[in-house]
Amino acid sequence: MIEKVKSMAGICPTCGRNHALVTGEIVIGPDATEQLITYIEKNSHTCVIICDTNTEKYARRIQSAAIAHVFVLPEYSHATEITTAATAEFASPLKPDLFIACGSGSIHDIVRYVACQMNVPFVSYPTAASVDGFVSGVAAMTWHGQKLTFSAKAPVAVFADDDVYAQAPARLTASGAADILGKYTALADWRIAHRMTGEHLCEAIYQLEKDALDAVKETILHRDECTAAEYARRIMEGLLLSGLAMQLQGNSRPASGAEHHLSHFWEMHLIHPEIDALHGEAVGVGLVQVLTLYHSLYRRRSIMTDAFFRPDLAKVFDRAYLEEVFGALTDGILDENMPDGMASSSLSHIEVENPLIADSQIRQVLADLPTPDEARNLLRLCGAPDALSQIGLPEDDDFLMRSLNYAPYVRNRLTLMKMMSAETVTVQ
Ligand SMILES: [Zn+2]
Ligand SMILES: [Zn+2]
Repeated sequence: MIEKVKSMAGICPTCGRNHALVTGEIVIGPDATEQLITYIEKNSHTCVIICDTNTEKYARRIQSAAIAHVFVLPEYSHATEITTAATAEFASPLKPDLFIACGSGSIHDIVRYVACQMNVPFVSYPTAASVDGFVSGVAAMTWHGQKLTFSAKAPVAVFADDDVYAQAPARLTASGAADILGKYTALADWRIAHRMTGEHLCEAIYQLEKDALDAVKETILHRDECTAAEYARRIMEGLLLSGLAMQLQGNSRPASGAEHHLSHFWEMHLIHPEIDALHGEAVGVGLVQVLTLYHSLYRRRSIMTDAFFRPDLAKVFDRAYLEEVFGALTDGILDENMPDGMASSSLSHIEVENPLIADSQIRQVLADLPTPDEARNLLRLCGAPDALSQIGLPEDDDFLMRSLNYAPYVRNRLTLMKMMSAETVTVQ
C-alpha cells in the first residue's frame, strides 16, 4: 500500500488537485535504523536528534554511529510553547541541517514545529506505534493552554524500525490502534461536510484512509493469528498510511473529525480535572460517544430541521455562552471559529437546497457506521479503554452533554456533532 501512496503524489486523476508528498523515503522494517544512519551520513553535516528520557537510548544508538547532537526532553513532554522554545534554544546555535524526531507523537510535534520555524528538514524515527501524526504536515500543539493545530512540516523521510517500535509498551500500540478506529467517524464527518458545504473531498484519499482503517480492523479481529511483532507492524503501517493521507490532503481532514474534537476538548481539561490519557485512548473513548450520538440522530424522524441546516450563529457564538466553559480561552475559540467574521464559520457554509435529499444523504453515511457496541468490542480487543471512567472522566449526563455541545468549538471544521450542537443552541 505504501507504493500506492507514492503513486498518488502530483496531479490527481480523481479530483484534479495537486497532492504534495514531501516524505520521499518511507522505510518500515528490521533494518530501518541502519538505513537511517546511512541517510544521515549522506544528507547531513550537522544533525540534531530530539528525544525524551524514555527514547534516549535509541537516539544514542544513532549518535554513536553518525555524527549528531542529542537533545533530551523530560519524559512525557507535551508540544507546548515551552518545550518548543527549549528545543529551538538548544538547536539554533548548532545551525543544524537536519532534525531527527526520535520518539512518539509529542516529540514529533515539537520537532515538526521547530523544524518549520528554522526552515530545516526533519526525519521521523518513531519509537512506538502510538499515533498517526508521524508523517503528517500538521502539528497538534497546546499553546498557552489551548489545543491548536499548526501547519508545519512533514518529514522528508520516515524510518520505522520493527525492533524499536515493537518494543514499546503495549499501552502505546493499543492507543495507536484506537487512533485509527477513530477514522470511522472522521470519514463520516468528511463525507457529510462534503455533501453539506461542497468542502473538497478526494475519493482517492478517502479510500486510502478507509483502506488503512479496514486493514487495522481486520488485524485487530484476527490478532491471535499473528505474533506481537507482526501485530505492531500492521498497526504501524496503518498509522503511516493515515499520516500520508493527511499529507496528500494538506490537512488533517481525512483523519480527524468529531471524535478528535472530543479528545482535544478533554485534553484542555476545562470542565474536569486533568486526565492521564494518551491521545488515541481519548480518541477511542470519543469514538464510542460520537457513534452513540450519531446513531441517535439516525433514529430521529427528521434530521433536517430548520435549526439544523440554518443555525442561529449569533446564539452559537454568543460570548457569554462560550465563556461558561472556555473562560479565558474564549477569544482564541472565537478566532478559531470565525477567523474572518461570521461568514468564515464552517457552519455558515451549509447549503441545503432540498432538506429531504440532504436527510437521506446523511442517513446513507450513518448507516455504514459501526454501532457503539461494535466499536467498544474492537477497542477492548486492542486493549484500549472504551468508557469515560476508564480515562478518568465523569460518567454523568451533564458532563457528557457539555462535552458534546462544547467540543465542536475547538475547531472550525464542520462535523455532524458541530451541526447538532449548533441546533441545540439555536432552539434553546
Ligand atoms: Zn485527489
Ligand atoms: Zn489522532
